[in-house]
Amino acid sequence: MIACGCNVCISDHKKDKRLRTSILVESATTTLVVDTTPDFRCQMLRESVSKLDAVLFTHPHKDHTAGMDDVRAYNFFGGHSMPVYANKMTIDALMREFAYVFADKKYPGVPSITLHPITLEPFVIGDIPVIPVMVWHLHMPVLGFRFGSFTYITDANRIDAEEKQKIKGTKTLVLNALRREPHISHYSLDEAVALAQEFKVERAYFTHISHQLGRHGAVEASLPPGMHLAWDGLVLHV
Ligand SMILES: [Zn+2]
Ligand SMILES: [Zn+2]
Repeated sequence: MIACGCNVCISDHKKDKRLRTSILVESATTTLVVDTTPDFRCQMLRESVSKLDAVLFTHPHKDHTAGMDDVRAYNFFGGHSMPVYANKMTIDALMREFAYVFADKKYPGVPSITLHPITLEPFVIGDIPVIPVMVWHLHMPVLGFRFGSFTYITDANRIDAEEKQKIKGTKTLVLNALRREPHISHYSLDEAVALAQEFKVERAYFTHISHQLGRHGAVEASLPPGMHLAWDGLVLHV
């Protein structure tokens, strides 16, 4: 957190260095990211991601969309417009907040984006099947995504019973857990642990972690078996 001197923010440990929340999903042929955070450029540089085939968005909050401008590098080197998959609410926000990208007369060099509106119907990107899962971020419907036995859910504090059905059978679950204290629009750590137990997943990783949650080492040691605090650069094979 900018200007914060708390125990986490002054930590030198790499697992206490938390950029904004996003994942990269890679198959033999296809690479996509879920969300382009304000840290998207740093994250792609850090991981040397040389190819990106698509972007999926969970919801239009700025900590998940602000980095979209930097897909222009993949336009240049990939030689294609970037396919962006999002629901109507998020597409409306992108068109408003990145108006220059979608203008009729574009300034040379602006990102090239091809919008693909999605609903809750499953779809496929390259060889990666995607099942959208609708979750609640207070009053905002946010999309989680299931890829085979892996499910990624961020920015949720409630999931309807029908949507929970789509998550059943997940082996690896990534779920948001902001801090220990309750929050109006995010799961607390206890709520996230309870939900992971409800789904009986083999392993759960908690993400979208605030500095208020405490240092990685202490929180990790407090978690039940099979549950972990995610960290920046974590790689999972699923
Ligand atoms: Zn802090
Ligand atoms: Zn967020």
